[in-house]
Amino acid sequence: MKTYTPMIQQYLKIKAEVPDAFLFFRLGDFYEMFFDDALKASRELEITLTARDGGVEEKIPMCGVPHHSAAGYIEQLIAKGFKVAICEQTEDPKQTKGVVKREIVQMITPGTVMEARSLEEKENHYIAALTGFEDGSFSIAHLDLSTGESKVTLVETLEECIHELVTIQAREIVLSSEENPEIEKMLRERNIHSFSIMDECSEEPAFKEVLLDLKQEKLTNAMCRLLHYTKLTQKRSLDHLQAAAPYQIDSFLRMDPNSKRNLELTETIRGNGKKGSLVWLLDETMTAMGGRLLRRWIDRPLINRTEINFRLSAVEGFIEAYFERQTLRDALKEVYDLERLAGRVAFGNVNARDLVQLKKSLQQVPLIQQTLTQTEHPEIGKLADKMDPCKDLAEMLEKAIIDQPPLGLKEGNYIKDGYNAELDQYRDAGRNGKTWIAELEQKERQKTGIRSLKIGYNRVFGYYIEVTKANLGALQEGMYERRQTLTNAERFITPELKEKEELILQAEEKSTELEYRLFQELREMVKNEIPRLQTLAQEVSRLDVLQCFATVSENQRYVKPEFNNDRTILIEEGRHPVIEKVMDAQEYVPNNCKMSKECEMLLITGPNMSGKSTYMRQVALTAILGQIGCFVPAEKANLPIFDRIFTRIGAADDLVSGQSTFMVEMLEARHALAHATQNSLILFDEIGRGTSTYDGMALAQAIIEHVHNKVGAKTLFSTHYHELVDLSKELEKLVNVHVAATEQDGHVVFLHKIKKGPADKSYGIHVAKLANLPSPLIERANELLKGFEAPSAKQELREQDTVGQLSLFGEVKEKKVKKQNQSRIQREVLNLDVLEMTPLEALNELYRLQKLAKTETN
Ligand code: ADP
Ligand code: MG
Repeated sequence: MKTYTPMIQQYLKIKAEVPDAFLFFRLGDFYEMFFDDALKASRELEITLTARDGGVEEKIPMCGVPHHSAAGYIEQLIAKGFKVAICEQTEDPKQTKGVVKREIVQMITPGTVMEARSLEEKENHYIAALTGFEDGSFSIAHLDLSTGESKVTLVETLEECIHELVTIQAREIVLSSEENPEIEKMLRERNIHSFSIMDECSEEPAFKEVLLDLKQEKLTNAMCRLLHYTKLTQKRSLDHLQAAAPYQIDSFLRMDPNSKRNLELTETIRGNGKKGSLVWLLDETMTAMGGRLLRRWIDRPLINRTEINFRLSAVEGFIEAYFERQTLRDALKEVYDLERLAGRVAFGNVNARDLVQLKKSLQQVPLIQQTLTQTEHPEIGKLADKMDPCKDLAEMLEKAIIDQPPLGLKEGNYIKDGYNAELDQYRDAGRNGKTWIAELEQKERQKTGIRSLKIGYNRVFGYYIEVTKANLGALQEGMYERRQTLTNAERFITPELKEKEELILQAEEKSTELEYRLFQELREMVKNEIPRLQTLAQEVSRLDVLQCFATVSENQRYVKPEFNNDRTILIEEGRHPVIEKVMDAQEYVPNNCKMSKECEMLLITGPNMSGKSTYMRQVALTAILGQIGCFVPAEKANLPIFDRIFTRIGAADDLVSGQSTFMVEMLEARHALAHATQNSLILFDEIGRGTSTYDGMALAQAIIEHVHNKVGAKTLFSTHYHELVDLSKELEKLVNVHVAATEQDGHVVFLHKIKKGPADKSYGIHVAKLANLPSPLIERANELLKGFEAPSAKQELREQDTVGQLSLFGEVKEKKVKKQNQSRIQREVLNLDVLEMTPLEALNELYRLQKLAKTETN
């Protein structure tokens, strides 16, 4: 039997270490892939598939990419969620017989990619690891390798775990091989596709710094798993990793991923792009770090009043200090991405230009501090105090590197004159070689008294001193060393001359070598300062986001919100921040929102397109803006601090997801009902729309009653089920409002104005009339409407509807539906405990029921 060639055997052995990655196997100037990798890669990368002999009968499929252009191909594979293992030759092929040693030197995975091209400037790029415990809880660690930031949290349930991983937007999840497979499935449904296994999760001395602030073993566990994985894949220095920060998900305003999506915080529902989202509106940051922090703040609004007020106060200060803010914005523009720079320094891939950028960034800091102090605002002053301009580092870089260095590091010419004596010498030799020779010539002439003595140069002998035969007598014995004899002259050298020659000839080579060494030293020194740079980066990003809030608040005429403890919402002339901005010609119509302990729920009615959804979202966005510390789009706002926000936007507005939209609708409703507290905000937008009319209406009513009676969260409920407006008679904390519309020159005009009371019932028919449908048709519709609204007809319809549902829900459900569809009077009568009533009570009850019956028929 034939066997594979030694090289293919080596390949197979290495490939076995990384079954889930493309193995880029270095062969000369190419990275080659074989077998299945080759088949798959040729498809994914659209490169030619070939085959080669491998010692056995059948040829082995093969494809490859040139090593100098591999980066682009790797990037493509990573973007598609694959992993790539880079396998290099680790010994010199010239000095080995047989197969050259090869090793995997790095793994590139979707979560650990460091290539600038694959990283979105203003987005974090997280990889996460999790550990599940027997009590059902999970610890989750996440890390941005490009910035060194890492965090760990503990969540109680699987649902929270999934929500958290989606919130983090982890690009890759590391878990144990024994982890519940359900997790992977659930995450795949939510568009997270890259998973890796790491069973090792023990502590190691090398992790000490990162684990410094983690006191709970559960937290350490997930973080260690993540660190083992990073160590395994990166195989190089991870000195820039900061101490992992523990956090608790409930110390922030919580929103599940669907609610966030519905509110279009970081991307729009339809386009999935940033444009049109809240972050798009808000992003007036000047630095990449600020941009990333802005996203993190939007992802996790605060619930701590002091922290919120600190931000608001600083924003207020920046709004007042207009000129200082402009100076700051200009200065910030010059500040480089210090966080990612620190990451690249640790990884050893920065060039001279990066260090110049670093220097320029640091040089902005004193100006920034000075400007901050100038505002004479206490909170802003504090920002300045915390900043460390790393003056020593800036000065060192200023001394060391020229202002416009070349891109490459191997050709030299980037270290400044005067930085290093040895380098200066080499350069002197190179640049001033001729002068030096001329001076030597002068000196030797004087010493010997030979006026015709000269110094020359040729390729074979290098520099020499030439004395004509006639003058040889003037030379003392042993003064020079003889090198070459010509017809009428002798050529000599001296040790000094040879020494200088060496300097001159090798000046270039030596100086480039030395420059490279000096650069590496510099890089080492910068590496030692990474923690300081990271702290500075944090301060700068905070400042950047705060000035950004001020800029947006001023441009968009926002006001500073106030916060209360009595669960009151008071928004005067509120606007939807994004819609207001994208509407050009038209004016946005501002609206009030007033809710209190006496008004926990608003039932919002009104025709389609009148502005119900917009109004609800505007209230939620106002709350979020306030809690991230930004001013809000209103004339006046006094808000409670919400602990959670839930949004469920009606099924017809929902386009995505493989699950039935109605199922999603119900799951989200369940989620809100299960987790909302008195301090939460719920938006239910046309809930129940995803099923048949009476079915949906019954559910909507039951949900309203449940929230009203059991949950007590501030709730905005929009509906097109007009019948629900009567609920306000029963539910004392529910208030009806509607969005007004009017008629103008035969057209419906939406006023987008929220008014007290329910919308006009026959609105649809009214619109139909305006649309010039035939008048007999309109009359008939009005007639039918009256019929439908009569209680007996209603009942009949409900029965019909129930029958329609039978086939779907079976008999048991049927009874329940029937029960839900009982009229209110029926229910109340059935609930009476007649035997326990006094005659007077009975009479009173009868009177009340009659009154109720009257309202139901009207
Ligand atoms: P509904 O939910 O009632 O069907 P939407 O809230 O979706 O209506 O609003 C429909 C459109 O009306 C929005 O896209 C927006 O352009 C416009 N609109 C909504 N509210 C306002 C407002 N207050 N001022 C101006 N235009 C508005
Ligand atoms: Mg709507």
